[in-house]
Amino acid sequence: MTDASTDAQQTGATEAGALLDPMPDDWQRALAVVAHPDDLEYGAAAAVAAWTAAGKEVTYLIASRGEAGIDALPPAECARVREAEQYASARAVGVHEVEFLDHRDGVIEEGVPLRRDITAVLRARRPELVVTINHMDTWGGLGWNTPDHRAVGRAVLDAVGDAGNRWIFPEQLTDDGAEPWGGVRWVAVAGTDAPTHAVHVEDAAVEAAVASLSAHHAYITGLTDEPPAAYARSVVHQGVEMRAARFDGRRCVFFQLFPR
Ligand SMILES: [Zn+2]
Repeated sequence: MTDASTDAQQTGATEAGALLDPMPDDWQRALAVVAHPDDLEYGAAAAVAAWTAAGKEVTYLIASRGEAGIDALPPAECARVREAEQYASARAVGVHEVEFLDHRDGVIEEGVPLRRDITAVLRARRPELVVTINHMDTWGGLGWNTPDHRAVGRAVLDAVGDAGNRWIFPEQLTDDGAEPWGGVRWVAVAGTDAPTHAVHVEDAAVEAAVASLSAHHAYITGLTDEPPAAYARSVVHQGVEMRAARFDGRRCVFFQLFPR
């Protein structure tokens, strides 16, 4: 750990040149919670591949079915297509369980119902690490974020606190037989403009991430004329090289880590 990275960790400083710390590795179960099918594949899948290859368990929770994501497909049909693509995409990086919450794509509301749904899954899965994507107003600069990403990311950070408190959503404990879960140690936010930590990714993890993003075939076809595999390769490679200069020149997936 360098002085610069220690300072960044202690102060939350995010100066462009600060070195990134390695992500903690002493955990076994992670839950990744995002708004849409494809959200994890755009910025975090290579890290997920590295984790599952190392024997860690990662499960996905997707707040919507991405049914408003393809202009040419009506929502009901789109939901079926995107759900199938998300399962294939998860399998490509060693994730075998994907849950969907059925909040409505495009108009997901940050609030108690969303927190309640996420809390129920946190109490059932009992993860030590929770992963989500950028919930800030922008992607850095002037690239405005979507309301779904803002709502879900903020609800995830809130639900991690809710899950440990037996007096919040107590019906889950009496009706569902759940126990409070206060064992989340970190929330790692991918796609952030203010990273603090990173996971080094080898070629195998990068290739798995390319396959994982490529699995969103219908979505990518609706987005660009570029062939999905070539598009996915370019996006994933650009992503893992973006912060290499801040991680000893190594390709990495970067996160802003919120300790609990
Ligand atoms: Zn999204």
